[in-house]
Amino acid sequence: MISTLTVLGAGTMGHGIAHAAMAGGYETRLYDVSPAALEHARSAIEGIVRTGVELGKISPDQAAAVMARLRTMSELGPALDGAEFVIEAAPERIDLKLDLLRDIERLVPAGAVIATNTSALSITEMAGALRNPRRVAGMHFFNPVHKMKLVEIVQALESAPETIAAIEEVARRMGKETVLVREAPGFITSRVNAMIGNEAFYMLQEGVASARDIDKALKLGLNHPMGPFELVDLVGLDTRLSVLEYLHRSLGEKYRPAPLLVQYVRAGRLGKKVGRGVYDY
Ligand code: NAD
Repeated sequence: MISTLTVLGAGTMGHGIAHAAMAGGYETRLYDVSPAALEHARSAIEGIVRTGVELGKISPDQAAAVMARLRTMSELGPALDGAEFVIEAAPERIDLKLDLLRDIERLVPAGAVIATNTSALSITEMAGALRNPRRVAGMHFFNPVHKMKLVEIVQALESAPETIAAIEEVARRMGKETVLVREAPGFITSRVNAMIGNEAFYMLQEGVASARDIDKALKLGLNHPMGPFELVDLVGLDTRLSVLEYLHRSLGEKYRPAPLLVQYVRAGRLGKKVGRGVYDY
């Protein structure tokens, strides 16, 4: 049984994944090239654990035991030495991920599983750069990891059944639900979400209803927790546009970004992060 987990990249996703691993009982190594990112990750994890205690979800003793499972590391060799299961959560750049994966394969034991948290890059392409592509598959978490229940497990062309089974087991111990997806652009969630969000922009552009009413209709009529415009303001309109452009290139015409979305991005209305998107903040 796997007892140690190594997370590479301690950013938004990496720290959340490390926390889920620690809470699941794994000895957890968290590696980053940036010592500042590691410090920030440790305090963010402490914050999540502290909130758990305040809400009565875990006892102070359990919280201490969870924190004791974390080792932050700024050298790759020791982080991967004897590793059983590695989750890569480094920036979304194929050149960077390919270099990192080659290093991982060189440094881990032959039986180690290598999972990547990529949102959109081809896992088959990443696996293809390795001597043994069978040990690689996608493990797509959602932000914030400690609140979101789902993990999409993404089967690349050559992912072995044992690799998928190991990822399922780790996700289960982290308290997550899983779905299995064969590698395809946007997996399940990003593809459907981009489609709904794009359709909402087409409707706004056509004057079908106001942004507030479209949001209200999806929340109260379809039970979505957030309206599509509230959500895109949170995600960032530029991020959404780049996802749609990618889906449009790879899956065809029905994903063509709505002209109004393109215009908003050109106007600098990128969402909450800049104080204005579909709504003003
Ligand atoms: P982030 O920028 O918050 O964190 C990335 C971290 O990786 C940084 O701390 C950076 O210092 C570190 N890093 C840079 N080079 C590295 C290297 N060579 N080795 C190890 N670490 C390195 O990014 P993020 O939002 O956490 O995204 C990480 C991955 O997760 C990406 O592939 C992204 O597509 C995916 N993802 C993101 C989200 C999200 O909502 N942010 C959701 C699902 C998946």
